[in-house]
Amino acid sequence: MNAPRPALRPLDDALAALLAQAQPLAGSETVATFDADGRVLAEDLVSALQVPPQDNSSMDGYAVRRGEIADEGVPLPVSQRIPAGAAPQPLQPGTIARIFTGAPVPEGADAIVMQEDTQALEDGRVRILRVPDAGQWIRRSGEDITRGSTVLARGERLGPAAQGLAASIGRERLQVARRPRVALFSTGDELVMPGQVAPEAMKPGAIYNSNRFFLRSLLLRLGCEVRDLGIVPDQREATLQALREASRDNDVILTSGGVSVGEEDHIKPAVQQLGSLDLWQIAMKPGKPFAYGTIAVQSSRRDAQDVGTPSPTLPRQAGEGFCHFIGLPGNPVSSFVTFLLLVRPFLLKLQGATQVTPVAVQLPAHFDWPRPDKRREFLRARRNAQGRLELFANQSSGVLTSTVWADGLIDVPAGTTIAKGDPVRFLPLAELLA
Ligand code: AMP
Ligand code: MG
Repeated sequence: MNAPRPALRPLDDALAALLAQAQPLAGSETVATFDADGRVLAEDLVSALQVPPQDNSSMDGYAVRRGEIADEGVPLPVSQRIPAGAAPQPLQPGTIARIFTGAPVPEGADAIVMQEDTQALEDGRVRILRVPDAGQWIRRSGEDITRGSTVLARGERLGPAAQGLAASIGRERLQVARRPRVALFSTGDELVMPGQVAPEAMKPGAIYNSNRFFLRSLLLRLGCEVRDLGIVPDQREATLQALREASRDNDVILTSGGVSVGEEDHIKPAVQQLGSLDLWQIAMKPGKPFAYGTIAVQSSRRDAQDVGTPSPTLPRQAGEGFCHFIGLPGNPVSSFVTFLLLVRPFLLKLQGATQVTPVAVQLPAHFDWPRPDKRREFLRARRNAQGRLELFANQSSGVLTSTVWADGLIDVPAGTTIAKGDPVRFLPLAELLA
């Protein structure tokens, strides 16, 4: 008789369990600020200076003493010229200074009059056509950053804006978390690599390996070092061999396919044989077949006593005798969605990132979803010009076209229907793919 089927794990519960296992990797490295895009900061960045360093002009115009401009139209002599980068003299009483955007405001000046509000006279003097407000067009020292403040905190994932900000306080290099080393392989005897066999020569039953392409790119975008082990046949021995090899010198093994319950699915027993399987099957659609476990490291680097079945309850560092294992479903959309919702937070947490899950927004549905499902669903959708969500017509887990068409996922709780106009929870792909 078959054993009773264990209940599927709710997604939030699975994610929490997964994150508890994702202890930040030991070790960080310094990289050039130029090359820090996508990396996670491993230090607090404290500014050693004010930004801007001095009060400076935000306009091309004239620096003035307001007290000397009681009325419009008074002509005043120009006593100095201050381009950006210059060090000005104090402003002589009874005069104004020609000044350009970004140039330091001379001592004594308390406002800038923009060029458009002035009139240059033949004799070199300049008429101020409008009485300035106090501090007008002056950017104050420290209005962006004050000396001693933390501009970016450890755990921040760096992007173009953060790179610019780090540069603005003079940082040429940054301390970042080291890249997780991820071994990737696809399982499936039906899989063929593009370039290996031409489309017209494909044998019946054969399909191209698409998962390998998006998984590799997703890993690279998350700052991982990818060790791609290619395609592994649907055989127990080959699966064990691939897992043993992948566990050497990697932090994570990521596989696709072979994680269901058929006789051709060898991942589950193989992981159980080499380590432990802690998580298996999630109550989500697409993506039910998902596995997390650990594999005892088979490496000459390790002492014999280090190698053993790790305890599934104690979160530890990868490399301490074990390697994380994550098995994704073979169906391309399931693989894609489970990566974004589970693997992405896991890999960010390994790098010490503070924000690991996406920020959802509420948007109105522009469709009806009349049939509730027992599992929580993630529908491929996109925003129309009115900001309403439209669904891709075919929500099958094999239809990869939906993932390109969509610009986000709609999170539909289990047992829920949706009517046109209902607000729904939308996860933009722009964030999930970043
Ligand atoms: P599996 O999880 O191995 O049972 O695979 C489920 C479905 O996904 C099957 O139709 C497979 O042919 C398909 N599949 C598995 N791996 C891949 C892959 N790497 N690329 C495209 N389709 C795949
Ligand atoms: Mg398979």
